[in-house]
Amino acid sequence: MLRIGLTGGIGSGKTTVARRLVERGALLVDSDVLAREAVALGTDGLTEIVDTFGDGVLDADGALDRAALAGVVFGDAEARGKLNAIVHPRVRRRSDELIAAAPADAVVVQDVPLLVEGGMAPYFPLVVVVHADAEERVRRLVEQRGMPETDARARIAAQAGDGARRAAADVWLDNAGSPGDLEATVDELWERRLVPFEANLRERRAVKGGPPRLADPNTQWSADGVRLAARVAAAAGFRGRGVEHIGSTSVPDLPAKDVIDLQLGVESLADADAIRDALQDAGFPWRADIDHDNPKPPGSAPWPKRYHGTADPGRPVHLHVREVGSPGWRYALLFRDWLRAVPEAREEYLAVKRKAESLYGDDPDAARYVEVKEPWFDEALPRADAWAASFAWSPSLH
Ligand code: ADP
Repeated sequence: MLRIGLTGGIGSGKTTVARRLVERGALLVDSDVLAREAVALGTDGLTEIVDTFGDGVLDADGALDRAALAGVVFGDAEARGKLNAIVHPRVRRRSDELIAAAPADAVVVQDVPLLVEGGMAPYFPLVVVVHADAEERVRRLVEQRGMPETDARARIAAQAGDGARRAAADVWLDNAGSPGDLEATVDELWERRLVPFEANLRERRAVKGGPPRLADPNTQWSADGVRLAARVAAAAGFRGRGVEHIGSTSVPDLPAKDVIDLQLGVESLADADAIRDALQDAGFPWRADIDHDNPKPPGSAPWPKRYHGTADPGRPVHLHVREVGSPGWRYALLFRDWLRAVPEAREEYLAVKRKAESLYGDDPDAARYVEVKEPWFDEALPRADAWAASFAWSPSLH
């Protein structure tokens, strides 16, 4: 099973995307619908609403008068908090029930309008954001849904901005074109990414990396690192001791394999084993227990780690789980900070990477590409150490 968080500003096209995904075979859990059901006539949710806000929020039939309730909570944060405390737990409980009853191979789409505002993005293995410009959304809401323009603008203003949504998006669906264009994009997403992602997740199979080719530096890499680190941290829970974007994609302006390397710190490798399944469920299947990690200075003690990949065919990720304070953990951070700070080190490393690529760039297995880089690491790490000593660098000082 794959759970997808679907979100976007009001009028962006979420409902349209959800409908198409359902046509392709997804199971929809719509939080707006569940929120309405939670306070329908005859529910204990409605009883609690009346106990809290009085029967002025009921219509002549005894059902909830949504406009009256909106009037009560509008501009009153405390009242909104009380309303949320009644509705949200019920929506969550009902969502959990529906998801628990879904088939093992389901792609479950959770349509959550305020997913970003509620900080829920890291709790989904994949977040899909539908986007349309605010003016276009106003036009569609007014013309196609008959909403008064001032309402449309007020609602848009009350939601997260595009920047916050973009930061949370694994998939950004631009709905600037026709509904047909959007459907075609959703179909491609379904076939190329969602269906294989679901199968990989269920079978706990990591996506195989392609041949080691260097890509031009991409400004999206750092945003990807932040987003994915938040997902790993959420999965690790209290056993996580920080997640960092490491490796070449964490160094601005450095061409690199299009892989986001993440390092999750843990107190002990026993903790890494205890969270193995949580990481797998979040989209990061376990790949190997590694005793002798590379690169390491010749003659040093083993550098053990737990190594996870990703089930998502759309975003290569390597996740290294290491003990906080261990040499391997420290060097991953030091090497990144050294490369970020010292242009000559970056240039040297790039030359080594280019050489490795020219020798083994077509090799389907990246092992030989990595081997070519080893000798350079052996002599570079002591220099990184000297740099660190020169100003008392520490892993927490960056
Ligand atoms: P949301 O669920 O995000 O609020 P909807 O899917 O309901 O948004 O879309 C808002 C309105 O715009 C609907 O009436 C929908 O039919 C229409 N719409 C969606 N996508 C397009 C598009 N690409 N072109 C024109 N109208 C669209």
